[in-house]
Amino acid sequence: MKSLSNSELIEGIKSGDKRLLGKAITLVESKKPEHRKQAEELLREILPFTGKSIRIGITGTPGAGKSTFIENFGRLAISKGKKVAVLAIDPSSSLNKGSILGDKTRMEELSKEENAFIRPSPSSGFLGGVANTTFETMLICEAAGYDYILIETVGVGQSEVLVSDITDVFLFLKIIGGGDELQGIKRGIMEMVDLIFINKVDDENLNKAKNTKVELMRALHFLPSKEKDWKVPVLLGSALNNKGLDEVFSKIGDFIQLKIKNNSFEETRKIQSEKRFDYWVQEYILQKTKEEKSTENFYEAHKKNASQLKSNPSTEAKIFVEKLLGK
Ligand code: GDP
Repeated sequence: MKSLSNSELIEGIKSGDKRLLGKAITLVESKKPEHRKQAEELLREILPFTGKSIRIGITGTPGAGKSTFIENFGRLAISKGKKVAVLAIDPSSSLNKGSILGDKTRMEELSKEENAFIRPSPSSGFLGGVANTTFETMLICEAAGYDYILIETVGVGQSEVLVSDITDVFLFLKIIGGGDELQGIKRGIMEMVDLIFINKVDDENLNKAKNTKVELMRALHFLPSKEKDWKVPVLLGSALNNKGLDEVFSKIGDFIQLKIKNNSFEETRKIQSEKRFDYWVQEYILQKTKEEKSTENFYEAHKKNASQLKSNPSTEAKIFVEKLLGK
């Protein structure tokens, strides 16, 4: 592939050229040092044109209807004059087990829309790294004028935390039933959500759906409120039949307005940036350590000690960092 200059990429991004947008994203996903260098410059140049979108995280177990939701919600937003980008964070792809999110034919109708851009999950790197390049991908999409960025993940492992660390609003797609799961692992998700959508509700199961709603509201009642004056709405609907999506759209708008009023919108983004800064500090320390001949050897030596459990890995890491900083 002929590599493109940043000015070519930026011109492409700004003019809405999806092919060049894709190439810019491939650049930020690359781990090669020379690509990373170019990516840093690109990000610096586009920064003034970023930050204006609404960043929405969407989670739910496989089969809950996330892609159906995104397809129809995305089209709804487009019908309201918005541009929509869809990104994914897929924990399975970073574990190299193939992708939960990526291997279906997904969002066919949305992908045909001029004002939609769909980018599957980056396929390598550990999950934290994937989330961090997804954030940068989001910035590029913002510079390209996308108003809504939908970031999809699956309700397993740490992926929700990572998605909530890069988004403004976090949406949980739920199917009817499964009350018992509220006691266990899903509690973590419940503490993170801003909005719940019970999907696949029709006339036949409406009563069951209402029961699920009551259970969810009860569970939410015992959790500390994440945003002042915000009671997490539990909405019912059908992604497939376009029911309840308009309500989700307007609740997201309400939530963003409230955050702005509470001064927590920018504040949350600031805290998120600080976390990302810490991530990159660790990343670059490791990278530089491995590059420099003077530090590579004792890095490897301590790593070996850790792997052979000569002592606790955290002890080895501490000794190594102290040596590195000349302490
Ligand atoms: P994901 O794995 O969470 O992305 O779920 P999908 O969007 O792929 O949906 C899984 C299945 O549920 C598909 O067969 C969808 O057609 C179906 N589905 C999604 N939303 C609804 C809905 O509102 N009603 C019904 N009956 N089926 C739905």
